[in-house]
Order: sequence, then structure tokens, then C-alpha cells
Amino acid sequence: MNIKELPFEHVTVKALDIFNGYEISFVIENQTFHFLIGKSEELLPLNIKHYFKNQEHCNICQKMIFPTPFGQQPCLPLQKDMKDLLSHLRKTYVVLT
Ligand SMILES: [Zn+2]
Repeated sequence: MNIKELPFEHVTVKALDIFNGYEISFVIENQTFHFLIGKSEELLPLNIKHYFKNQEHCNICQKMIFPTPFGQQPCLPLQKDMKDLLSHLRKTYVVLT
């Protein structure tokens, strides 16, 4: 998968209270994903989960995904490339310190 060609929209980031880290939310073709990142000495990508409003097939992994909070399983193709994804998002969309 070519991360740079994915049509990211609505990329937002929030710092988390529950542990030292961030959650980046983004939309690809009207489907929302949450990307969890831990922060220690460097940023550590942890997982990428579906965050869907409706039950539908994920355009990326093709699995049937249930709406949140039931369907929050990882999107494996995205998760496989999450280091590249993190560096792409940081270069293009969000500032993480
Ligand atoms: Zn998926």
C-alpha cells in the first residue's frame, strides 16, 4: 500500500489523559480511523483501529466492521505500515512534540 496516495481528510490530534501519548483521528473515503501513539523518548506507533458510525466494509482491509464501540478492531494493512503512516502524517498534517 502506498501510504502517500491515501486520501486523508479531517486529520486531528489530541493528547491523551489515560497515558502519555496521542490519538490521531483521520478519515479515508468517509471512514474514520483512530491511530494510537505512545510517547516516551520517541514516538511509538501502537495501533490503528476502525472507528465507524455504521456497519460497513472497510475500504482498506475489506472486513465487515461493526460500529463503535463494538467494531474497534485493528485495520491490519494500515497497522502494518504504521511507522510510515506516522511519518507521513507528521510531515503533512500534524505536529507532534
Ligand atoms: Zn480496515
